Amino acid sequence: MTSSKKYVYAFEEGDGKNKMLLGGKGANLCEMTQIGLNVPPGFTASTDACNAYLEKNQLPPGLMDEIRTHMAALEKKTGKGFGDAKNPLLISVRSGAAMSMPGMMDTILNLGLNEVSLKGLITQTGNERFAYDAYRRFIQLFGKIALNISDEHFDERMVAIKRKYGAPQDVDLNTEHLKELAGEFLAIVQRQTGQAFPQDPFVQLEIAVGAVFRSWMGKRAVDYRKQFRITKAQANGTAVSICTMVFGNMGNDSGTGVGFTRNPGTGENVIYGEYLVNAQGEDVVAGIRTPKAIAEMEQEMPEIHRQLIQLRSRLESHYHEVQDFEFTIEKGILYCLQTRNGKMNARAMVRTSVEMFHQGLITKERALLRTEPAVLEQLLVPQLAPNFHAKSLAQGLSASPGAASGKIVFDADTAETRGRAGEKIILVREETKPEDIHGFFQAQGILTSRGGKTSHAAVVARGMGKPCVSGCEQIVINDQLRSAKVGDTVLREGDVITIDGGTGHVYAGEIPTVEAEFSEEMNTLLGWADEVAALKVMANADSPVDALRAREFGAMGIGLCRTERMFNATDRLPIVQEMILAETLEERQAALDRLLPIQRADFKGIFKAMKGLPVTVRLLDPPMHEFLPTAAQLELEIAHLHQLRDTIKALEDLPETLKMLNPKLYQQYADGLTPLMGALGTFKKSHMEDEVIAKKEKILKKVRALAEVNPMLGHRGVRLGITYPEIYSMQIRAILEAAALCGKQGIEIYPEIMVPQVATVEELKRIHSYVQRIRQEVRATHGIDVQFKFGSMLEVVRACMRSGRMAEIAEFFSFGTNDLSQATFSFSREDAENKFLPFYNETGILEDNPFEVLDIKGVGQLMKMAVQNGRVTNPDLKVGICGEHGGHPGSIRFCHHIKLNYVSCSGPRVPIARLAAAQAKLLEDQYREPV
Ligand code: ADP
Ligand code: MG
Ligand code: MG
Repeated sequence: MTSSKKYVYAFEEGDGKNKMLLGGKGANLCEMTQIGLNVPPGFTASTDACNAYLEKNQLPPGLMDEIRTHMAALEKKTGKGFGDAKNPLLISVRSGAAMSMPGMMDTILNLGLNEVSLKGLITQTGNERFAYDAYRRFIQLFGKIALNISDEHFDERMVAIKRKYGAPQDVDLNTEHLKELAGEFLAIVQRQTGQAFPQDPFVQLEIAVGAVFRSWMGKRAVDYRKQFRITKAQANGTAVSICTMVFGNMGNDSGTGVGFTRNPGTGENVIYGEYLVNAQGEDVVAGIRTPKAIAEMEQEMPEIHRQLIQLRSRLESHYHEVQDFEFTIEKGILYCLQTRNGKMNARAMVRTSVEMFHQGLITKERALLRTEPAVLEQLLVPQLAPNFHAKSLAQGLSASPGAASGKIVFDADTAETRGRAGEKIILVREETKPEDIHGFFQAQGILTSRGGKTSHAAVVARGMGKPCVSGCEQIVINDQLRSAKVGDTVLREGDVITIDGGTGHVYAGEIPTVEAEFSEEMNTLLGWADEVAALKVMANADSPVDALRAREFGAMGIGLCRTERMFNATDRLPIVQEMILAETLEERQAALDRLLPIQRADFKGIFKAMKGLPVTVRLLDPPMHEFLPTAAQLELEIAHLHQLRDTIKALEDLPETLKMLNPKLYQQYADGLTPLMGALGTFKKSHMEDEVIAKKEKILKKVRALAEVNPMLGHRGVRLGITYPEIYSMQIRAILEAAALCGKQGIEIYPEIMVPQVATVEELKRIHSYVQRIRQEVRATHGIDVQFKFGSMLEVVRACMRSGRMAEIAEFFSFGTNDLSQATFSFSREDAENKFLPFYNETGILEDNPFEVLDIKGVGQLMKMAVQNGRVTNPDLKVGICGEHGGHPGSIRFCHHIKLNYVSCSGPRVPIARLAAAQAKLLEDQYREPV
């Protein structure tokens, strides 16, 4: 006895759960057969057979014998004969892997046709035209897929024959024309392969099975797997399903279609789909005729419609999931040819999750697990209207999602004035700087021609939830002319454009958008998520407006409030600059005294907006020079001013010069020159070039003095707080006074003070001593002992190593994973992303960009250790993360795993993080740290 491996499974016997072995299509055909749905009989050859084939480049021994046995059973079941002259059995040979790869592999229909069975098909159906139509389709499909003959040869003949008989479309060809075409197709096969079209149906079948197996390694399929990162563990080879043909093209009581058990665009609980009467296979998808909506079937074919509705509920009650299925009607009988889980947009996912739970189809857990958190983004920002038709002008990086239209403006000041005046504005710049922030507030969206997904523009826009396209290099901006060029198109200030930050596309003109929606169902689903999750979800927000919005998104507090954003507002920047330029402590204190009430009001606003919830305020972090113009810019301005001064001087000298060179001419023009001299004087007075130059030179000197080789590793964060204690003292005072004032008004608040860039325990102790002193002063003046928490950022490697001691002083830690990742890798982020990171990712040295996806193997280990050591000294230590990673679902799972208390992310990502936090909890047992 030869005990060769079993490769083939009848639909009645195959394990419907084993998609790895039978492919998704095969497994579901088995499952549907076994639960009694009307599936045309057939069987599946496994992916094992595929891999055996690919290994040896020939069908494995025993496979064809097994297939013959199953074909004999099919003949018996259907009462038809394979290749029969009276009642032929035709089959489809269909590909299908464990992961759906739509259109990437091949399927051959109508196999088994030859000169003999063709006659049989005619006898059996009494429809000669149909038979020839099936035949010519089969020859072409088989020729292309199994024999590698280019489609062009066939298409060319089709075009020629249509022209010859004046037929606009292939449906207009009659039997004779199709007969002629089939003859020509057979001749093509003969010419191209040097052999006649195979007549033996088993030879056809053997060739077809090999071809389908080979399509797994076809370029299309390989590229697709690479693009969507489909690994061998997810799908290893294609199965081949052999399925009795049923014909939807046998007249007006026949048809074919595709359906969804619910509307995949809205989630509405009604059957959805399209069908065509008298059509076969791919006709619906191929769009040869316009299909009708399934709703119309109720009138046209009421009995079939009833069967479809029944099929729909049987599919859902079996699969507990929305299904996407294919069906064919042959002479009034409905067959189901395929089913798989339906792909839906975010809105439909959310709605169906809630509704299927209420129907008892799924559990709450399943409802929370079935949606990929990241897709919620679609619902949280405006999108381009689904059916717009416009060609994109240029494409940059998808830096911050959402779509927006507005008039182009090339600088932040104009954006501010025109935006305040109620105009819709898109701020377009080469790149943005912190001092452009006021322009962001008033703009609908931001477009830059330089900079990556982590450029200033991208980060700030994401934080504000505004659409941003960055690094759109095709756009060449000319600030001087106030215009931009994209190829031949010139865009002027005031021209309207539309940007889509989700795709990076830029369009000329206004394209309608649809608003974000936070539906009832979304609220319900996220409410369930909050009940399940262990992690709290906080938001990063710097203003009361952002804080309120984050609250609407369900933020449970502010995890990071950056005070430098407040410093950059137009009304404060001059005072901040004064403080920086101060030469003495007194001067600096004077400036700080003016900033104090402003900051106090800022904090009060945020505390009020977040009443009842914690607000973590981070003391000043960036280096001072970020609040001053760059040296290059100042040098340029000073040079211009010098030039202006020289020009004025020359003009002032004009009368004297003229008098000397040509006294006569001077006499003639003397009277005219007087008003010119007057105007010159006025101009000089109002412009005071000398003073302006002196002031700019002073700033330049300071900028040069502040220049650092590595500003990000330089004089910033707590280092500033310690060398200039008056700056942090002012901020601490503003926080505690704001808290005291809120307390007096009975507003429930939970302030937290956070120190950035801490490396040593001593640094933290120093700042803690300021806090204690100011707390007492505030108690003395306001009579309130403000309750608050004091904590540290952990974003310096050394601080992680010292977390045990840090936790003696700090009541909480917050991982600043942006800086911590830079420090752990010794990569400066901008340089890394602009120079070598893409190459590292492409060549597999690093799997991901560690600034987008938390590096669990390195940075994560440091975090884990810091949490453990911190909790040894301080079991109540609260720990969170406030880097951009805090909104990334994969990173959130890790944060749950190392038992953080919260994640903090930009407002619009809060819903995503809430769902991810719930999933992290539900899947915690399956979590494996990457090693
Ligand atoms: P794909 O994965 O590209 O959808 P399929 O194997 O599902 O490929 O088949 C392509 C088309 O042919 C589908 O419209 C399918 O419904 C149809 N089809 C496949 N097998 C049969 C069959 N036995 N009878 C009728 N139509 C079929
Ligand atoms: Mg299909
Ligand atoms: Mg930082």
